[in-house]
Amino acid sequence: MTTNIPDDHPRAASLRTREAMKDAVAAGLVHPTGLIAHGRGEAFDYLLGERTPPEAREAVAEAARLLRAAKQPVLSLNGNVVALAARQAVAVQKAFPRLVLEVNLFHRTPERVEALVAVVEAAGATKGSVLGRAPDFRIPNLSSDRALCSKAGLGGSDVVVVPLEDGDRCQALVAMGKTVIAIDLNPLSRTAVAAHVTIVDELTRALPALAAALKTSSPGAVGGTYDNADVLRRVKARMAAGLGA
Ligand code: ATP
Repeated sequence: MTTNIPDDHPRAASLRTREAMKDAVAAGLVHPTGLIAHGRGEAFDYLLGERTPPEAREAVAEAARLLRAAKQPVLSLNGNVVALAARQAVAVQKAFPRLVLEVNLFHRTPERVEALVAVVEAAGATKGSVLGRAPDFRIPNLSSDRALCSKAGLGGSDVVVVPLEDGDRCQALVAMGKTVIAIDLNPLSRTAVAAHVTIVDELTRALPALAAALKTSSPGAVGGTYDNADVLRRVKARMAAGLGA
């Protein structure tokens, strides 16, 4: 059931997203704890003034460069990511067709995986192209069901994009030698710190920026100057300044 949100409400967009998340919980797409993760993201987005910071643009450019040079690039999808941005995730894949989409869940049930794959297909992904239904690989040293994935996707990937990731899996992916690109509004999270590239931006802004960068960046673009710790330091300073401290 959708509540009536007046168009002139100053927080209408945010309230509509909350309604959509609530509906996604009712539909079994998002685990109830996903609402808490969403709220944490909202709080950090407030500190950014709900605008993409320049540091996120730097991170997006580096992410596009790494993805273009990858052998098996993958974008990992969880319940929140699909509920918030299935369309934008598919647009990234269309911009960069070698990118594999894989559903990967902490609270995993076959029904939830099926439902999420169906939403991504309805958003435009080629039928049968979204992995996640038939895991044949386990990420080592990770006891949760997020360890379950596919060799043709996350298991065999060299560069992975992990939006709204939990720190344990991010660290496990880094420990496997993968290059990890996080999208996370919290620059203090274990994920943000462990990833090689952290895009500190809201998911529905970050994915279109990544799609645009993938269309324009060349695989041979020279890297080597990107410093994720410095990017995080500057974005934290920006948030602190936003608080007026
Ligand atoms: P960690 O385990 O990495 O220390 P955590 O416990 O916050 O962090 P989760 O709750 O699993 O991990 O991850 C959710 C993360 O996603 C949070 O850091 C939150 O700020 C971020 N997040 C939530 N919604 C969005 C969004 N729409 N766009 C970008 N980031 C978001």
